[in-house]
Amino acid sequence: QVRVRFAPSPTGPLHIGGVRTALFNFLFAKKHGGTFVLRIEDTDQNRYVPGAEDYIRESLDWCGIPYDEGPGREGDVGPYKQSERKEIYAAFAKALLDSKNAYYAFDTAAQLSTLRSELEAKGETFIYNWHNRMQLDNSLVLSEEEVQKRINAGEDYVIRFKAPQDEILQLHDEIRGDININTNILDDKVLFKSDGMPTYHLANIVDDHLMNITHVIRGEEWLPSLALHVLLYRAFEWEAPKFAHLPLILKPVGKGKLNKRDGDKLGFPVFPLQWKDPKTNEISSGYREDGYLPEAVINMLAFLGWNPGTEQEIFSLEELIAAFDLTRVNKAGAKFDPEKTKWFQQHYLQEASNETVSASFMELLIKKGVNVSLNYVTTVTALIKERATFVADLWELGSYFFEAPTAYDEKAAKKGWKEDTGELMQQVATIIKGVDPFDAPTLQDAVKGWITRNELGFGKVMQPLRLSLVGAMQGPDVFAIAATIGKEETIARIQKAIN
Ligand code: GLU
Repeated sequence: QVRVRFAPSPTGPLHIGGVRTALFNFLFAKKHGGTFVLRIEDTDQNRYVPGAEDYIRESLDWCGIPYDEGPGREGDVGPYKQSERKEIYAAFAKALLDSKNAYYAFDTAAQLSTLRSELEAKGETFIYNWHNRMQLDNSLVLSEEEVQKRINAGEDYVIRFKAPQDEILQLHDEIRGDININTNILDDKVLFKSDGMPTYHLANIVDDHLMNITHVIRGEEWLPSLALHVLLYRAFEWEAPKFAHLPLILKPVGKGKLNKRDGDKLGFPVFPLQWKDPKTNEISSGYREDGYLPEAVINMLAFLGWNPGTEQEIFSLEELIAAFDLTRVNKAGAKFDPEKTKWFQQHYLQEASNETVSASFMELLIKKGVNVSLNYVTTVTALIKERATFVADLWELGSYFFEAPTAYDEKAAKKGWKEDTGELMQQVATIIKGVDPFDAPTLQDAVKGWITRNELGFGKVMQPLRLSLVGAMQGPDVFAIAATIGKEETIARIQKAIN
């Protein structure tokens, strides 16, 4: 039974890289009929940001990749927030002390930095492990009584993992294959602090074990922790889950990792939802508020580091679940491509039903103070949607459906509005007045018939007609426009243009 988890720390809004990690976990779980768990890793109270946890949950829901178990969706292995699991970890730290895989250390920050500078002066590097641990202030050099005395006296301590010496560790990553690590380069990481809180490493391993996680799928930035994590499983005598580290997401231009600041600098969102920083009140844009459809965002994210091995680019969530495979995830970093995201967006907006799109368009119109019926908006949407990428484009493309043009495109007017145009348009208005029923085909027959009978040339009539109704030489079929805005409005606009 496959069980995966997404384990963000609520230290700020979920970055697009985090959503990609969540997505790959979700896809893997669904592909194998497994369970997708959300665990909030909030042991570091100093870095806790109010609102971040809600933001994470809302983001997953908006993206359409809901978790099966997690805060508010209790399963058998909760609670799913580490701050609510505090009592659990001390016993596990104690077990590692008992099995001599961990030890107490009392070094103060000042002591450590003195030693560090001394070593650096001699051209050596400081690693808190077998190289140096015997010169430091810890329970490997102190007597048991001394250790107990200092703890009882309330001295600050940490519990450190005792990394093994001179061992070649053989690690395996589902994406990267075999990795060998010499344990001599590892330091004795802190697992537990005297304030009763575990560090990320201890809490993460204990929880993955207690939550029966079978596959750990996470970002490449955690690869350096893999050796320690595998050693922790060994120390506990637990079976380790399988690990897969997803490639970095790179900046669209230039070198390096995409970071939280890049979005607003380059003009595209790097967050799923808009985020207002509770400290600075600074607002970062989000895909949702910028008008993207979740399907487009998901499709874009799926291709950040994964590909199906075929030409197909458009994937519904169902199709992604069917096609997803960890063996097709790349090792190399994936370049983030905002233009491609727009391409997906355009596709999904075209795919979306008229009802869905017009409902969002209606919302936008209401905000603008335009008062029309949903029916009317649906008709307009059907006429202009083809050229839109975002719902907001519909206003750019079709504001003339809601308000008469206040100005006319100068160039087009110069070209299309001649001396005799006014008189011609007066006649067109008369023809239009008589059209019944007032629909596009009947209108077209009437106007075009009249043009042909009078041997007038289509451009001479059609161009000024469009200019009168739209204000520019753009838009769908001019008879469809006239039929939509109605007879009265059509004639009014022609009259206005003549004057
Ligand atoms: N809490 C870690 C994070 O913020 C989780 C890393 C992991 O998945 O092990 O990304």
